[in-house]
Amino acid sequence: MTDWTARLAEVHARYAARRPESAALFERASKVLPAGSTRSVLDMRPFPFRVVHAEGARLTDADGIEYLDLLGDYSAGLAGHHPNTVADALTAALQRGWNYGATHTDEIRFAELLVDRFPAIDQVRFTNSGTEANLMAIQLARHATGRDRILVFRGGYHGGLLYFGHGGEALQAPFAYVFAEFNDLASVEAAFAEHTDIAAIVVEPMMGSGGCILAQPGFLAGLRTVADAHGSLLVFDEVMTSRMSSGGAQLRTGVHPDLTALGKYLAGGMTFGAFGGRADLMAAFDPARGGTLTHGGTYNNNVLTMAGGVAALSEVLTPAALDAVFDRGETLRARVAEVLTTAPIPMTVTGWGSMMNLHTAPGPVRNPADLAGADQDAKEVLFHELLERGVYTAPRGLMALSFAVTDDDCDRFVDALRDSIATLVA
Ligand code: PLP
Repeated sequence: MTDWTARLAEVHARYAARRPESAALFERASKVLPAGSTRSVLDMRPFPFRVVHAEGARLTDADGIEYLDLLGDYSAGLAGHHPNTVADALTAALQRGWNYGATHTDEIRFAELLVDRFPAIDQVRFTNSGTEANLMAIQLARHATGRDRILVFRGGYHGGLLYFGHGGEALQAPFAYVFAEFNDLASVEAAFAEHTDIAAIVVEPMMGSGGCILAQPGFLAGLRTVADAHGSLLVFDEVMTSRMSSGGAQLRTGVHPDLTALGKYLAGGMTFGAFGGRADLMAAFDPARGGTLTHGGTYNNNVLTMAGGVAALSEVLTPAALDAVFDRGETLRARVAEVLTTAPIPMTVTGWGSMMNLHTAPGPVRNPADLAGADQDAKEVLFHELLERGVYTAPRGLMALSFAVTDDDCDRFVDALRDSIATLVA
């Protein structure tokens, strides 16, 4: 039997020995930032490496170590680290000045581009994050239905205040919730049988943070039917899955929600969130149509995000480029699955298109409960073995390909994975 504690100590020591600068910066950071960071998902043991430069699909840290970046900023970095078109648009925007405290034209163009793409979005409002987008969509659903409760799936993540998973204490905005199991329509129907006050079902078409678990055929359509039957709204959190086609998962699956939350990469890597949907629902923010809701947010139309979004959507995130990265991911996941058959411990890979998750548990994975027995120590050792070979994935096994990842990069990853899993001797 592998002594995982000893293996972890070994990989941590090897990591630390190569990174004296990052170690010193961690010590300095920890004095002013809890855990030395300001985004919990970036914490890693023994300490995180600090990036000093990023280009294409490469990161360089303070100790001069270069990484092939297959994490893609947890899916926010789809366009790569420095797409020139976006950089030019940002530079041009800076020439015009910022902090207008007034409306401008880029927000119109950005909204037009989004509305043109997403079949279930007639109108949209911008926010500063995906968390805020989901919070606004939820409050809009509660306002529109006059009901209180929100149905969410166990193990889901919809933002910093909408976390329903394991590992750390769940931080939940204080709504009334009812929980169901992902990919289990019967559990959804049971929730509706028990509660008559469900305003909305909030669901990711593929659970991203939950482990890249794809909705099985019929599940999303089933949610649509159940929501309609009970007069509830269906909210798709497409913060991650919008990358699955030019019109997100809703275009790829043909299932249209009432409201959609967006985030991550759509503004070319600038701080971003948005929620949108049926015009009659979004009218709640329009006094001319009888709307009574306000929607605040100092930076909702900040000039860099709006300019980045226009450039990214019109020139970088083309439908062809999104389809290409989807296909590259599908091919890579099949290769990964093949390699994992040689793993000395139970492993599987889940995912969809350009996003995937390595698991130290046997498949199949229908919902997060199927991952309850995953070996977290082995997963952390795997993360470090990949890092040692110059490949950056998430400690939890998530990978999100960016446009900058090439076929050669994929080959390099497959080789690194083969070598790394060989070290996980059971
Ligand atoms: N929804 C999903 C599905 C996410 O993956 C995330 C972030 O990872 C969010 C919402 C929250 O977005 P943000 O981090 O921009 O608040």
